[in-house]
Amino acid sequence: MELFSELNERGHEQVSFFHDSHSGLKGLVAIHNTVLGPALGGCRMWHYKNETEALVDVLRLSKGMTYKAAIAGLNLGGGKAVIIGNSKSDKTESLFRSFGRFVEGLGGRYITAEDVGTSIRDMEHVRMETDYVTGISQALGGSGDPSPVTAYGVFTGIKACVMEHLNSTSLDGLKVSIQGLGHVGMYLCENLHKEGAELFVTDIDQTLMGQAVENFGATPVEPESIYDLDVDVYAPCALGATVNPDTVDKFKCSIIAGAANNQLIENDFGVELKKRNILYAPDYAINAGGLINVSNELEGYNRERAFSQAEGIYDTLMEIFRRSNKEDISTNKASDLQAEDRIRKIGELKSFYLPYKKSFKIRNA
Ligand code: NAD
Repeated sequence: MELFSELNERGHEQVSFFHDSHSGLKGLVAIHNTVLGPALGGCRMWHYKNETEALVDVLRLSKGMTYKAAIAGLNLGGGKAVIIGNSKSDKTESLFRSFGRFVEGLGGRYITAEDVGTSIRDMEHVRMETDYVTGISQALGGSGDPSPVTAYGVFTGIKACVMEHLNSTSLDGLKVSIQGLGHVGMYLCENLHKEGAELFVTDIDQTLMGQAVENFGATPVEPESIYDLDVDVYAPCALGATVNPDTVDKFKCSIIAGAANNQLIENDFGVELKKRNILYAPDYAINAGGLINVSNELEGYNRERAFSQAEGIYDTLMEIFRRSNKEDISTNKASDLQAEDRIRKIGELKSFYLPYKKSFKIRNA
């Protein structure tokens, strides 16, 4: 791979490779963009087939974080770390403390968090070496499980979609299908049930299905039948890429709005949904509650503030829909443009206001 041309094409600022033979750490940190603030993004531990696969993954994921933070209105940039290894057999305290030292060495340009293959416990080991870590337990002053905030953000986002597409402020009687009753899906069911929505649920775990039926009067559905249900909203909360060539003509819903990452198998499917008059809430905009939650740790965690910030997802989506309508583009394209505009505008503003900010700090010193 021609590394610098790859970085140039994807717009990255920095990629760092870490190696520590004592702990066995082989890690990469990619910092995509720090115009809005330090790059925050999780640390993934994965048994990559080769180093190129790890590099491509960290580049792709870190760029996604730039867009997610920007659209959520956070003063954060996008970054991500990957550790090459098997998360089931290769984890040790020294590995994560070694990673923590490397993160410390980046001087705050990158802030880490848990991700696929890493846990709150691992982040606590990282924290022994650096303060540039979020997503630690509530007992240690962290934000704990982000799922309730993510689910609340998705719930708020569904309200925006219903207003935009069905011209209603009420969810009473709204038919919603939920795919995946895990951490986020179950909280989403609870929020929707309280507002009178009629729920259709699926999961490969029968126990979770039973809970949703009992607690929220949901109708259980077989996993493969979820796409062609006659509902108002389909909320994917399990897997990515469920909007694909096999499903796109099956949908009878008028809205797709859920927590899953990378819902469209390819960006062009945003256009396909628009053609079919299905309103799509861009995944990284509607599921930003998790990032909003951990980012709150940076200012001293406050759960109420995290929930209140997640409510902002309503207005964010409305702005995206406005742009999509005005420019006749897909909602995912409109979302990308909104995020890029914010980075550009705040970037310009920063250089303009820097002297004022400096003197302001001195006055308060
Ligand atoms: P989770 O692992 O707790 O739940 C996923 C659920 O989906 C599980 O119950 C699983 O059994 C079910 N599932 C798996 N395959 C399925 C299938 N084929 N059909 C139906 N159900 C299936 O995950 P989560 O934390 O609830 O996250 C859900 C999605 O939201 C993921 O894509 C995640 O990346 C994304 N997300 C989560 C957060 C968060 O705060 N947890 C934040 C942003 C995005």
